[in-house]
Amino acid sequence: MAAALALSRVGWQARVYERANAFAEVGAGVQLGPNVTRVLHAWGLADALEQVAALPQSLHARSAHSGEVLATLPLGAAMHRRYGAPYVTIHRADLHALLHDAALAHGAQVHADRVVVGLQTQGHEVLAQVRHAEQTQSAQAEVAVVADGVWSALRQQLLADGTVQPTGHLAYRALLRQADLPAHLRSQDVTVWMGPHAHVVHYPVRGGEWLNLVVLTEGQMPGVTSDDLQSWNAQQTPEQTEQDLQVALRGACFRLQEIISAAASWRAWPLCGRTPMQGAHQHAQGRVALVGDAAHPMLPYLAQGAGMAIEDAAALAKHLGYETDAPIALQAFAAQRWQRNAQVQARAMRNGQVFHAQGGMRWGRDLALRMAGPWLMDQPWLYGYLGE
Ligand SMILES: Cc1cc2nc3c(=O)[nH]c(=O)nc-3n(C[C@H](O)[C@H](O)[C@H](O)COP(=O)(O)OP(=O)(O)OC[C@H]3O[C@@H](n4cnc5c(N)ncnc54)[C@H](O)[C@@H]3O)c2cc1C
Repeated sequence: MAAALALSRVGWQARVYERANAFAEVGAGVQLGPNVTRVLHAWGLADALEQVAALPQSLHARSAHSGEVLATLPLGAAMHRRYGAPYVTIHRADLHALLHDAALAHGAQVHADRVVVGLQTQGHEVLAQVRHAEQTQSAQAEVAVVADGVWSALRQQLLADGTVQPTGHLAYRALLRQADLPAHLRSQDVTVWMGPHAHVVHYPVRGGEWLNLVVLTEGQMPGVTSDDLQSWNAQQTPEQTEQDLQVALRGACFRLQEIISAAASWRAWPLCGRTPMQGAHQHAQGRVALVGDAAHPMLPYLAQGAGMAIEDAAALAKHLGYETDAPIALQAFAAQRWQRNAQVQARAMRNGQVFHAQGGMRWGRDLALRMAGPWLMDQPWLYGYLGE
């Protein structure tokens, strides 16, 4: 949707084909760093973003066991001043609606309940086979942007480089209405609770009215089917989820246990991924570009997967906006983006090791955070990116 908006803004007639027949509220919250909100602001979405997002004032790193606040990174005005754009937290459906409405306003067409089952390049055109209501029709375009997510079937056709693999990490997420929580559990900040082999993140969404809660652990979910894997919601029984969470958060402090117990229901899913991108060829082939998770799925430990999809969109528009030869524009796009995305994928993986550290590494991490937390938690290379 970001790509459709970005390209419509520079004069392309964008058509989006989406497999889902409605845009459901999946995925709960996302954090967007200033590298991402800078792009959204440039697209004229600052006011609309402010109306639905929350603006947390701080990011706290805490010990899951002792509850100690190991370090705090100021967000809010400090972050805005430093990077020229805010750090926000937003419900995924709100972000999607923003992009969707803006794309439509710029003339993009959005077709739901359409599955793209194939892509072929013929001369100066790409032909997409689009299935709808048992029928398959061809759609022609000058360029195709493949954005079909971590399970991208179209990537298989284009690159034939294997399917995504389970990472051995699991995510459990819940949404809590802040008004239903006792006052001491309500929060308008981002908090990361780090424990051995697991961590918990929570932050406000929907203008601060809800708390988005995610528990990330290591392990497998036996009995999960590949449909579950693709649905963002493995069909675990509530009892099984409760048991998994108890095991993962054994020894967690009372405060964290209280927050976890306040969640009425959880959605669970195993995280799948790929090794970081290895070259520009994984971002573009001729007239076809791959963006977002289809090109570079990543663990959510840097909170940048959707952010990178939005940065990809801005880069696509930059190159397709002035270069009239589409394959040349896409090559330039791929050359600009692949190393940035590879770096973010790799850092997300490394963050997982740091968040889940145990023994000596955990001790060293905590000490480093106590002594130099704000400096270690700030990420100028990430948040200061200007898209060159
Ligand atoms: C626990 C967790 C927390 C996260 N937190 C953050 C965060 O804080 N910040 C952040 O930036 N990112 C975060 N992410 C990552 C973010 O959710 C993803 O990177 C992002 O959704 C990728 O967007 P996408 O458009 O590439 O893919 P998707 O969001 O997966 O969208 C792909 C779309 O393509 C459609 N589709 C699939 N196949 C077809 C087809 N053949 N034809 C037509 N349509 C098709 C699907 O229905 C879907 O709508 C998190 C992820 C997880 C798991």
